[in-house]
Amino acid sequence: MNETISTLLYLVSASLFILGLKRLSSPVTARSGNLMGAAGMLLAVVLTLLDRGIVDYTAIIAGLLVGGAVGALLARRVAMTGMPQLVAAFNGFGGVASGMVAVAELSTGTHPPLETAAAAALSTVVGIATFTGSLIAFGKLQGLLPGRPMLFKGQRVFDSVLASGIVAVAVLTIMADRPGALWVLVVLAAVVGVTRTLPIGGADMPVIVAFLNSMSGLAAASTGFVIGSGALIISGALVGASGLVLTTIMSRAMNRSLLNVLFGAFGGNGDEGARSTAAAPVRRATVEDVAITLAYARSVIVVPGYGLAVAQAQYSTRDLADRLAERGVDVRYAIHPVAGRMPGHMNVLLAEADVPYEQLLDLDEINEDFPRTDVALVVGANDVVNPSARDDPSSPIYGMPILDVDQAVTTIVIKRSLSPGFAGIDNPLFYRDATLMLFADAKAALDELSKAVPEA
Ligand code: NDP
Repeated sequence: MNETISTLLYLVSASLFILGLKRLSSPVTARSGNLMGAAGMLLAVVLTLLDRGIVDYTAIIAGLLVGGAVGALLARRVAMTGMPQLVAAFNGFGGVASGMVAVAELSTGTHPPLETAAAAALSTVVGIATFTGSLIAFGKLQGLLPGRPMLFKGQRVFDSVLASGIVAVAVLTIMADRPGALWVLVVLAAVVGVTRTLPIGGADMPVIVAFLNSMSGLAAASTGFVIGSGALIISGALVGASGLVLTTIMSRAMNRSLLNVLFGAFGGNGDEGARSTAAAPVRRATVEDVAITLAYARSVIVVPGYGLAVAQAQYSTRDLADRLAERGVDVRYAIHPVAGRMPGHMNVLLAEADVPYEQLLDLDEINEDFPRTDVALVVGANDVVNPSARDDPSSPIYGMPILDVDQAVTTIVIKRSLSPGFAGIDNPLFYRDATLMLFADAKAALDELSKAVPEA
């Protein structure tokens, strides 16, 4: 294909990525943004096939069929609650794909020019470390590994030695044609991915998943330099940059610096449940009690959390809110940035149920309103409304901004038991006098509440 035409078409593909990303910034345009990104990707793949006549189409078609089938199957079968793990796994596969291309380039037998070798070594380290790190993140999110920070004695020293080793072996790989060094580099990168993700504690998972996403973009961009693909450089840089923006947003949401997340071994260790006040009395409420409290409130703020996603209670939430609105109750939603198990989780769920976007308010926008609110209705949220994060310096999540639901006149919590949330720590909110606990599955409870709230 004519080089000018192919360069222009690669630019079209990169532009589609950028426009797609832009449109993803609002739920109204997000669907078309997603399609634009996918179209850009298809164009880039087809162009690469036509552009580089050297490829073996049999392997590519087999790859497309197998990859496409696995992707379609996963997309259809993975439940909304499994999405964060899936995203973590996708980051890892993106990283390993870039890393493998770089390894292939370095092991052809002819040593590439210095700058290409440097980009390939970077891509190998970042891509392979992203892969193993993402597998650990997947294991933690899926509950296959404990969510607590896992450190071993002498980890700091080990980390420093490992980092120095990686730099030394990378230099050797770049400067000389040493296939042995390349494989040592691959192993060291795999080890660093594991040892740097295991110490990340439960509540920090949103930050690390966003960070690994950013790393997979960096690996792709440097692989773009290795194979001289402008489209890969641009798309990798976009993933890297947007992942970094998300990492910053998530770190801010936890009130932490990225360095502190990566090296601080923070987050619940799962043992805090032992300090549980589970034996302390709680005020149990029935559906009828809650229905009356809601029906005669002037203002209600709904606080959704991970339990709402588990119960798939988004439509039931909307139905109850509609019912209350018909009675003249002012209903709004407070969205914590790390509620659920992935960035934007609650926004996606509530948008699916057509909750008007202007009723969804961020933590900063709504927190001051709780003291003036009659009822804070907490649906399947736990860590994001835990007052220990604000009041108890000994709490593992101390410093994480929370939604101040305890400052509303009445707080109603719908969950199935007193079990802790993702961070594995007890929540003093449940034992307050002004908190009513409705122990039930969120969807079942909300459906019953809609029926029990008297008509206007
Ligand atoms: P939590 O994980 O703190 O709590 C969820 C609560 O939902 C549980 O206590 C559980 O209690 C309840 N629940 C589960 N199933 C149901 C059901 N069917 N009906 C009603 N309740 C149910 O959720 P939050 O949203 O408050 O906090 C998110 C946590 O996840 C934070 O710690 C955050 O750091 C972390 N995280 C967030 C990510 C993100 O990107 N947003 C990614 C990874 C982790 P019970 O079993 O008693 O019903």
